Amino acid sequence: MKVQLVDHNLSDSAVVRAARVSTVGGTHRLLPEPPTAESTERDAGLIGYLMRERHGSPFEHGSLTLYVEAPIFVFREWQRHRIASYNEESARYRELKPDFYLPPVDRDLVQVGKPGAYTFEPGTIEQLATVDTELSTAYRAAYEAYERMLAAGIAREIARAALPVGTYSSMYVTMNPRGLMNFLSLRTHRQDATFVSHPQREIEVCAEKAEAIFRALMPITHAAFEKNGRVAP
Ligand SMILES: Cc1cc2nc3c(=O)[nH]c(=O)nc-3n(C[C@H](O)[C@H](O)[C@H](O)COP(=O)(O)OP(=O)(O)OC[C@H]3O[C@@H](n4cnc5c(N)ncnc54)[C@H](O)[C@@H]3O)c2cc1C
Repeated sequence: MKVQLVDHNLSDSAVVRAARVSTVGGTHRLLPEPPTAESTERDAGLIGYLMRERHGSPFEHGSLTLYVEAPIFVFREWQRHRIASYNEESARYRELKPDFYLPPVDRDLVQVGKPGAYTFEPGTIEQLATVDTELSTAYRAAYEAYERMLAAGIAREIARAALPVGTYSSMYVTMNPRGLMNFLSLRTHRQDATFVSHPQREIEVCAEKAEAIFRALMPITHAAFEKNGRVAP
């Protein structure tokens, strides 16, 4: 699975600028002061305050565009997040390649417990082999059916119905920092979070990659998000 930075205008200073219009008015025309230890501390204090008090709108100024390759079942979960913009490849307009998801060997395979409180444990060697064989067989049969239909002149939009949710897709997604933090709080599992979420591991892998990008671009905001129990403002 791939999550790559395409474009962004994120910065901690955009949050500070947006928040300060409340008290000092517009500052975008002023020459930016070179950051000092004092100004950095002041900005971090303001961002921490906004996060803690859940003054969320200053975190909406900015956008991050990611390119994602992941199975369709991950996209179904990701695209439930409405505070984002999406463009995905079309199985009506292009023929899909035979790219299918197989879980890596360290992916826990056995679900224990009840809904809302599942835990996952490693599979045995036999279970790993079963997953590998069954998924590969199903994928091969599905793709062959897809190709037979295309060869028989059937439209791609009908033939695609044979393909499973393990088929890889690709998309661009654009989010603002507030929407992204909401996504990260729900799609990562952190025992120390104020609200502990239990996402499917595959979307969590993508969320972790997105979070690494976010952390590098907005280190002060990310630190405040962490300090605030990963509650989106
Ligand atoms: C572990 C887990 C299990 C899940 N299981 C299921 C499931 O079984 N079935 C299922 O259908 N979904 C399931 N979901 C999806 C979940 O219900 C949300 O649709 C998804 O997480 C998007 O969250 P969101 O609405 O906060 O995000 P966004 O859509 O990005 O919205 C961000 C925030 O904007 C506000 N907002 C957005 N739209 C509205 C609106 N129309 N009205 C009011 N406020 C709005 C809310 O404050 C929201 O938190 C699951 C999610 C997780 C993380």
